[in-house]
Amino acid sequence: MKPNLLFLDRDGVLILDRDYGELGDPFKIKFLEGVFEGLKILKEKRFHFFVFTNQSGIQRGYYGEKNVIKIHERIDQFLYEKGIKIFEYYFCPHLPDEGCSCRKPNLGLYRKWIKEFPFQYDKKFMIGDKDSDVEFGKKLGFKTIFIEGRYERNSNPDFIAKNFKQAVDFICSFF
Ligand SMILES: [Mg+2]
Repeated sequence: MKPNLLFLDRDGVLILDRDYGELGDPFKIKFLEGVFEGLKILKEKRFHFFVFTNQSGIQRGYYGEKNVIKIHERIDQFLYEKGIKIFEYYFCPHLPDEGCSCRKPNLGLYRKWIKEFPFQYDKKFMIGDKDSDVEFGKKLGFKTIFIEGRYERNSNPDFIAKNFKQAVDFICSFF
């Protein structure tokens, strides 16, 4: 049986999205409601988890790549306690207008991922809180879920969720 695949945006999906000045501090991360429970449910459904995150705060000078990596290590520590594992994190450090290929909705990070994880998956989903997440997932042919938060939505996801739990409920409706 093939596993299933979930790509996750980080800020506003797993942890609280903060202003750039506060986003680089690993000790200030705050998991959003329902994340631990939801990932546990999806783990039971044989999902593999990967994070794809735009971190232009690096290029903007608010924090460094080291901070981003530390934050991911800290997320891992909390998730480890719950028996959950993010298989890998991918981040883009560039500014929106730099013309890089790795900033979502561009597929540069995906191309990196597929080299590292060239496996067969069954059902595939992307959860994000921005249009760029939805567009990224749509380009890949994934089912897309938009979690309402601090950003306006102009994209057309497969599902609009008010929180992580609703996103997980939508995914579970496919099983
Ligand atoms: Mg986000």
